[in-house]
Amino acid sequence: MGDSLKVRRLGESRVIETCNHENKRDNSFWQFLRKDKNTRHLFQLAFLLVTLSTGLRFFIYVFHAGGNGAISVSRPAGVEGFLPIGALISWKRFFLTGVWDTVHPAAMVIFGFAIVISFIAHKAFCSWLCPVGAVSEWLWRIRPNLFLPELVIPRWLDISLRLVKYVLLGFFLWITWNMSVRAITVFINTPYYKVSDVKMLHFFTRMSALTGIVLVILVIGSIFVKNFWCRYFCPYGALTGLVAILSPFRVRRDKDKCISCGACSKACPHRIDVMRTRSVANPECSACLDCVVVCPAEGALSFRLTKLRKLVVTPFSLGVGIVGLFSVVYVIAAWSGYWESSITELEFRQMLRILDHQVISHPSW
Ligand code: SF4
Ligand code: SF4
Repeated sequence: MGDSLKVRRLGESRVIETCNHENKRDNSFWQFLRKDKNTRHLFQLAFLLVTLSTGLRFFIYVFHAGGNGAISVSRPAGVEGFLPIGALISWKRFFLTGVWDTVHPAAMVIFGFAIVISFIAHKAFCSWLCPVGAVSEWLWRIRPNLFLPELVIPRWLDISLRLVKYVLLGFFLWITWNMSVRAITVFINTPYYKVSDVKMLHFFTRMSALTGIVLVILVIGSIFVKNFWCRYFCPYGALTGLVAILSPFRVRRDKDKCISCGACSKACPHRIDVMRTRSVANPECSACLDCVVVCPAEGALSFRLTKLRKLVVTPFSLGVGIVGLFSVVYVIAAWSGYWESSITELEFRQMLRILDHQVISHPSW
């Protein structure tokens, strides 16, 4: 009884010390940005706005290209970020032949960036950049304002459902594995692949009843279940998670500084029991750093490399690092001609006309 009281008092005094320390430190806007839990949401919002403006610009481009007049905006290559399967097979061809896809080159750049950032910063792509992940997460966050209860999926069902995204990933990897270089080259040059970005746009602007029903299910699911889409169905997230296992950066817990309050485990959106682990190597960890932000014990929890204990990545520096790296990748790709599609405006207009009058279906092998 005496010992446990002593331990509890030690813990409490550490929390009070930490709180006092935080009060002293967190009185500037700079510190707010560096430490506050809203930092990630600001980055998510910024990327969501960039994605929406890219989508709107592409909509205008397609709308104008469908007529006979001039097109008032240039085609935003960033829309190709929504073509991950095409990027996957293009990367296979690149590794086997060194040939870059000129039809949707930005798809390869964005996909490659997602993989690299997952290796460097442990699946941070999902919780800091991905607009779908952001919307899914925010839908869950508005739930209390709608006075709706949270649906806590039983552990056995949660684990079973999580496998779905790996099954979907396995399916796409299997298709990619079985495609020969010749088949990939033929596919990349089909009208189907050339207008796949337009088909993706029509997914929203000419929504079928089935698509609408699926979207409604995903929206309702996201309101009741935390990270519904990312957690159970996203094959992209499954892939970045598997790459993240190799990442040297992880959430690491210093057991000497930890006061075993359990705040980190409670804050984790992926139900990882952070309090009982030394370093989080779980492929579900999205490097959201929510656990780090809520930890009351200074230095107990940090996102860092194993050996370099001083190289601690704060939420703010992680966000800036991701944006900085993406900016560098974009500038290099754009400057070296690996970003803009080789499809001319004339060819694009011709394919749009075909698309409007007949179905361009997936080529059969
Ligand atoms: S809360 Fe921590 S352990 Fe959980 S996903 Fe976020 S960074 Fe990973
Ligand atoms: S690491 Fe987790 S359990 Fe330990 S002090 Fe921080 S929040 Fe509490």
